Amino acid sequence: MSKRPRPLVAGNWKMNGSLAGARDLAKAAAELAGRTRTEIALCPPFPLLAPVAAILSGTAAQLGAQDCHAQDKGAYTGDVAAPLLREIGCRYVILGHSERRAQHRESDPEVRAKVAAAWRAGLGAIICVGETESERELGRTRARLALQVQESLPDGANPANTVIAYEPVWAIGSGRTPRPEEVSELHAFLRAALVARIGPEADSVRILYGGSVKADNARALMGVPEVDGALVGGASLDAKAFSAIAEACRET
Ligand code: PEP
Repeated sequence: MSKRPRPLVAGNWKMNGSLAGARDLAKAAAELAGRTRTEIALCPPFPLLAPVAAILSGTAAQLGAQDCHAQDKGAYTGDVAAPLLREIGCRYVILGHSERRAQHRESDPEVRAKVAAAWRAGLGAIICVGETESERELGRTRARLALQVQESLPDGANPANTVIAYEPVWAIGSGRTPRPEEVSELHAFLRAALVARIGPEADSVRILYGGSVKADNARALMGVPEVDGALVGGASLDAKAFSAIAEACRET
């Protein structure tokens, strides 16, 4: 494997957080980003983006959103446009999270259209892929991942505009994780699928692991050579745990 890219640890707060709590977590993330070589990003709910942006501004920590619309503007009540996310300071947007795929029936083509919108706005897309428990049990993990990589990525993906998050659906919020050897194999598989999709540049696209990453399993999971960081849900709401995860990533 060639020189690996700088790891990224992104915190997905999901529909959690408060104004007061967000300020504390943002200050802690800004401080963390200043002392680690891992890139740090916080992805709070929409109403907390602006207050978190105000704290992260001028620091090394990045801001991300949890979704965007496929159109740049228009009559889409309740949705949020990528250009506005960029304007208020977002660097990233999480797209195709399994909770959105399941709860909002987002398909791969819809995810792909959202990724294109994110890119048009100058955002980096953190594109989530992962198999469900039944797909895993039926031996369909690789087929599922290959299809998601093929269908969720528009043409033009590169290491600056794309991050892949491998998130086994059964591991999210469950406290269960795959064994590090499985993570290694599936990240290598995803890397090969990415190379097939976008060519040799894929080697520098970061592939994060996500799904029940905690302070106590971070060393084992982040120590897998094919893992370029983490997408963290629950543990990102605890500044100490989030920091421990970032510190478990390899040095660049
Ligand atoms: C996630 O929501 O992307 C996630 C990985 O959640 P958790 O860390 O809580 O499993």
